[in-house]
Amino acid sequence: MSDCLFCKIIKGEIPSEKIYEDEDVYAFHDINKVAPHHFLVIPKKHISTLNEADDPTLVGKLSLAASKIAKDMGFAENGYRVTMNCNDDGAQTVYHIHLHCLGGRQMTWPPG
Ligand code: AMP
Ligand code: ZN
Repeated sequence: MSDCLFCKIIKGEIPSEKIYEDEDVYAFHDINKVAPHHFLVIPKKHISTLNEADDPTLVGKLSLAASKIAKDMGFAENGYRVTMNCNDDGAQTVYHIHLHCLGGRQMTWPPG
C-alpha cells in the first residue's frame, strides 16, 4: 500500500535497522524502544490489522521469526514478550500488522 509507513520500510523508501528478512517477513529495530531489546516483525504483504488477517501460516511466521531472532540475539532463554496491538483500544498506531518483541528486562503483567 503506497501510503503505508511499513510498506515503505519494506521497499527501502524509508530507512530502518534491519535485523532479519525472508520471503514473507521483515524485522527491524523499533525506533522508540521501550525495552533493551525491542524489534518489530512485519509481513511483507500489507495487512492493516489482525482483524483483516486470514493466513494462519503467515501470522504464525511472525511469531516464529520473533523467537528465532530472540534466540540469535541471546535473550530467548531469559524470556521476552510478543504483542500485537489491534485498533484504537489496542493502542495500534501503524496500520500494517506487526509483532512487537520486547526483551532484556523483567516485564510486568497486566500491561498498561
Ligand atoms: P503500534 O503502536 O503497535 O502500532 O506500534 C508502532 C510501532 O512502530 C511503535 O512502537 C513505533 O515506535 C514504531 N515505529 C514507528 N515508526 C517507525 C520507524 N520509522 N522505524 C521503526 N519503528 C517505527
Ligand atoms: Zn503496509
